[in-house]
Amino acid sequence: MIKAITGTKDILPKEIPNWNNLEGVVRNAMNSFNYKEIRTPIFEETRLFSRGIGESTDIVGKEMYTFIDRSETSITLKPEMTASVVRALLEHSLDKQSQLNKLFYISPMFRQERPQAGRFRQFHQFGAEALGSTSPALDAEMIILAYQIMKQLGLSNFIVKINSLGIPSSRENYKILLKEYLADKINELSDESKKRYETNILRLFDSKNRDDKKIMDHAPLLIEHLDDESLEHFEEVKQMLLSAGVPFEVDPKLVRGLDYYTHTTFELVSRSVGSQSALCGGGRYDLLVKQLGDRDVPGVGFAAGIERILLAMENEKVIPEIAPKIDYYIVRLDKELNRKVFEIATKLRVENSVEFDYTQRSVKAQMREANKIGATKVIMIGGEEFERGTAVVKTMADGTQEEIALEMIK
Ligand code: AMP
Repeated sequence: MIKAITGTKDILPKEIPNWNNLEGVVRNAMNSFNYKEIRTPIFEETRLFSRGIGESTDIVGKEMYTFIDRSETSITLKPEMTASVVRALLEHSLDKQSQLNKLFYISPMFRQERPQAGRFRQFHQFGAEALGSTSPALDAEMIILAYQIMKQLGLSNFIVKINSLGIPSSRENYKILLKEYLADKINELSDESKKRYETNILRLFDSKNRDDKKIMDHAPLLIEHLDDESLEHFEEVKQMLLSAGVPFEVDPKLVRGLDYYTHTTFELVSRSVGSQSALCGGGRYDLLVKQLGDRDVPGVGFAAGIERILLAMENEKVIPEIAPKIDYYIVRLDKELNRKVFEIATKLRVENSVEFDYTQRSVKAQMREANKIGATKVIMIGGEEFERGTAVVKTMADGTQEEIALEMIK
């Protein structure tokens, strides 16, 4: 038996209403904040991601689905969306057509991670990117947008963590301080952290290793070494969140180890799912566009994991009950009337949802099916009524029946 690839999963019909509900909430919220949808291809040239995400990240280093296609081009299935959005922005000169581009997406992503609860190899994200302004209002807007979506989905057991990585110059100064602090502790670090010490020192704060953590607990913090401009930007974001009534925690260890990140970083973390608890992550990336193209366009964005949010919703018992529903079920009283039923169903289907029996089941079984699929009305074709050119139409909610001329059914 051929099975789905490890780390991928089928989304079966009974789960689809939950997905549609979530996507509906996302689309509504994006619309309220005036974000416009963008769809980009599933695959891109590999160098877009290696340049746009960074060679020293786990994504580029070990998780991308990369292959050489038949024309010898290195292709990668998209592991995240920001790089693709930026490519599309530059390729179509969207930044020249309007000063600020507010975009959103809902899309599958691919990363060859070790599968576990809440972590897949094909998963789905929705997210937003605002390109063209350095205003802290957009940093705050992203956090509020993500927060509102979670709330509208019914989630409450999560926290908003924010931090600031400041501008590159204060970060570079801080990295020197951090290097100095760690200089005589390198040998006590895990192998992974030893490597990161050289390639991406901020990511030492992400280490799950207990010894690393102990060392990093006493490390100097970037937030304590920010310049005035960065502090002012951060203060503004915090004030806006406060006035929007969005509760948050400042987590000075929330580094999103990428060099192009500037100022705000944030995460929404669930308390009701296991170890994979980040529902959403984002931040400002004023240096990314320049890294991918020839123009300087500041940006800020976030990405949220749909599977994880659905898991959190399940655990918080806030998945809405969505009962199946269909306008009409046509019950056939006599077997010879199959063609007539088919004809009526086809006519009705132009404007209504309609189902009937394809398997010669008894009238009782057809009625059971009508109930099961949530028919609002049942049309009974056959018997004396049919001979009179009419059909009995039963309203399922109250059991009332009326006789309607067959030609009136449309
Ligand atoms: P990232 O792009 O790594 O910042 O991830 C943003 C969000 O996407 C995370 O907070 C998760 O909710 C989700 N996510 C990331 N990787 C995976 C994965 N392998 N499986 C499921 N969800 C993921």
